[in-house]
Amino acid sequence: MRERTAIKQAIIAAGKEILASGLVVGTWGNVSARIPEEPDLVAITPSGMDYNTLQEEDIVVLDFNGEVAEGFRKPSIEVPLHLAVYRDRPEVNGVVHVHSVYATAWAAARRPIPGALEDLVQIVGGDVRVSEYALPGTPELAVHAMKALRDRNAVLLANHGLLGVGKDLREAIKTCQVVEKAAKTLIAAQLVGGYVELSPEEITTMREFFLHSYGQR
Ligand code: 13P
Ligand code: ZN
Repeated sequence: MRERTAIKQAIIAAGKEILASGLVVGTWGNVSARIPEEPDLVAITPSGMDYNTLQEEDIVVLDFNGEVAEGFRKPSIEVPLHLAVYRDRPEVNGVVHVHSVYATAWAAARRPIPGALEDLVQIVGGDVRVSEYALPGTPELAVHAMKALRDRNAVLLANHGLLGVGKDLREAIKTCQVVEKAAKTLIAAQLVGGYVELSPEEITTMREFFLHSYGQR
């Protein structure tokens, strides 16, 4: 139970962070995490609630079939999307969905964010693909998003926003921050003559470096 409390608090903090840093406006976006000691359960933000008012009891705990294990709030409409990630990607423990301005500009244009920046390719593993369009909250959106998320830690949802995943919630937030920065930088790069994409070999080398040697070990 202590684990559940810690994860719920981390989700509330993540919600406040994405709101304060401008990755979301209003009540859009959503945040979830696996509960470490109960890996068949996921905690997720409630639907359409102000991030600044969230209390522990507002966070909903679900199993992989979407059955509520704890909580009384209606969970995020994007439960099918979040659960699809946890089902398909055992290494992922945190998922963050935002409607940030620059990433969503690429999503509206239905153009992938190219693998042209070192921090982007380190954390995402390559370009950020755009999934085929489907209405928010639908099982179709989850299917399309999982296809475009393959081998990556982020995906653009066409005409909608961004989904970032990570080995924990902190990394999922960082993924969204780095993708949003890349989305902005590469629009600026187009104004000064265009970006140059990194080669698949360079991208693989940087991803491996990020996974196995970057930072304090
Ligand atoms: P929820 O408030 O239900 O999480 O929905 C917000 C959203 O961004 C849907 O895609
Ligand atoms: Zn959304």
